[in-house]
Amino acid sequence: MIDRVLLSEERIQTRLDEVAREIDALYAGREIHAVGILKGSVFFLTDVLKRLRSTVVVDFLQVRSYSGTSSSGNIQLIRDLSMDIQGKDVLLFEDVVDTGLTLRKILDLFESRKPRSVRIAALLKKDLPENRDIPVEFLGFTIGPEFVIGYGLDLDEKYRNLPYVAIWDPSR
Ligand code: 5GP
Repeated sequence: MIDRVLLSEERIQTRLDEVAREIDALYAGREIHAVGILKGSVFFLTDVLKRLRSTVVVDFLQVRSYSGTSSSGNIQLIRDLSMDIQGKDVLLFEDVVDTGLTLRKILDLFESRKPRSVRIAALLKKDLPENRDIPVEFLGFTIGPEFVIGYGLDLDEKYRNLPYVAIWDPSR
């Protein structure tokens, strides 16, 4: 039911070289407190972090929002950070910004913890009016509204390990 490969492995990896250079340039030697949103961001996060020259600390949090191929709209924090982010330059890693609800919830949560800064790196952002206000400083690719799988993105926990991003079409 893979409709077509949207982003090849080579295209993703080439773009990540550029994203990593942009991140290093912006942080200019400051320590980066990388936070991966589990589970989808893991492949993107590790591939980017391996390319950085900056000093990096890594932490994770986990939220649950999707069931099947649609967002439930109800975001639950199911695993919190293991480290304090007060005074830190936090860089959040997200696989895909869809409605933006997940990032809005996490940005709200972090505000009270007084980080020095919070920025967002996302592999994908869907071109949708509802997520336009989400500031993604480091973006891999803008895509359409289709449901995608691969390179961290799942369908019922499967297909995350595909090295490319593909469009899922259940009618095929
Ligand atoms: P949002 O809260 O922005 O609507 O959705 C964010 C989360 O929903 C993503 O981190 C991802 O887990 C899931 N999601 C959104 N769109 C897709 C998609 O096209 N494919 C997959 N596999 N997950 C998606």
